[in-house]
Amino acid sequence: WERTVRDLAFHKAVTTDGKFIPLKANVEVLAELDMLAKIGCDGIGLYRTEFLFIHSHSLPSEDKQFAAYRAMVKGMEAQGAVTIRTLDIGGDKIIPGMELGESNPALGWRAVRFTLAEPAIFLTQLRAILRASAYGKVRIMFPMISGLLELEMALKILEQAKSELRSRNMPFDEDITVGTMIEVPSAALCSDILARKVDFFSIGTNDLIQYTIAVDRSNSRTAYLYRPLHPGVLRLLKIIIDNAHQAGITVESCGEMAGTTTGALLLMGLGIDGLSMTSQSLLDVRKAIRSISYDAAREMALHALNLTNAQEIEDYIRKTIHDRS
Ligand code: PEP
Ligand code: MG
Repeated sequence: WERTVRDLAFHKAVTTDGKFIPLKANVEVLAELDMLAKIGCDGIGLYRTEFLFIHSHSLPSEDKQFAAYRAMVKGMEAQGAVTIRTLDIGGDKIIPGMELGESNPALGWRAVRFTLAEPAIFLTQLRAILRASAYGKVRIMFPMISGLLELEMALKILEQAKSELRSRNMPFDEDITVGTMIEVPSAALCSDILARKVDFFSIGTNDLIQYTIAVDRSNSRTAYLYRPLHPGVLRLLKIIIDNAHQAGITVESCGEMAGTTTGALLLMGLGIDGLSMTSQSLLDVRKAIRSISYDAAREMALHALNLTNAQEIEDYIRKTIHDRS
């Protein structure tokens, strides 16, 4: 490990033919920045804010959230932007005392569905995020958007949060970058429509895989069906990435898939503009990208799209990585 850090710390993920893929980190708490300060990264691609709410006995106030977001933004100042995701509770992310007793929590009242129904909570968080944007580069991102109307409602509430801060004379970045996660199949299929409304996409493969294959992301009995390289998933990824590029926006990926070498290289081959992952995966993915050409990754992804099952695709990608690098 020490040696890997020595060899790869602060290197950029550049392919052998010169294509740079920004590698960002997924974080939940400030302490995670210590490791990132040692190995380097190109910003935070996913700041999961649930932690603040899950470990709090009452709803965190605007000032408390602001302090947490500002600390993260200032801590990352030298490395890149911090992408703050609005609250994504419900489904597999339960706040103690907020168990809803739903029979299908993954399909129920979670993430943006919850915050849109609780505008006071949503506005408080958005104001806190906006205020942090006065201290460094911040991007806002919405989770679990399933279609245009939800995205438009979220954007409208964001505008309201901005105007509240203006009337309070509080500074924030007026040109703050706004994006949406694409992690629901309907959003993937309608990504051409959604792309007109935002500055970037971030693909949440954990949920996208769960919903595409209809397999619970946390059920060990059906775990064998949970395959990031399922041809159905690959086809959706291609649709999302192509639609984003056609609309002239960037598209990143922040689920676990981006933190595996097979997933990262496949996403790169499909044209992804950036990958975000747990800090523990950064050096391995950086190494993998630095050992292959962009051309080879493109060719590999094109070929993978013609294969018929997850195992065949995985074997093919592993063999290609082995032969090419
Ligand atoms: C995802 O769904 O891929 C994602 C990054 O979000 P989370 O794992 O927090 O649901
Ligand atoms: Mg998700």
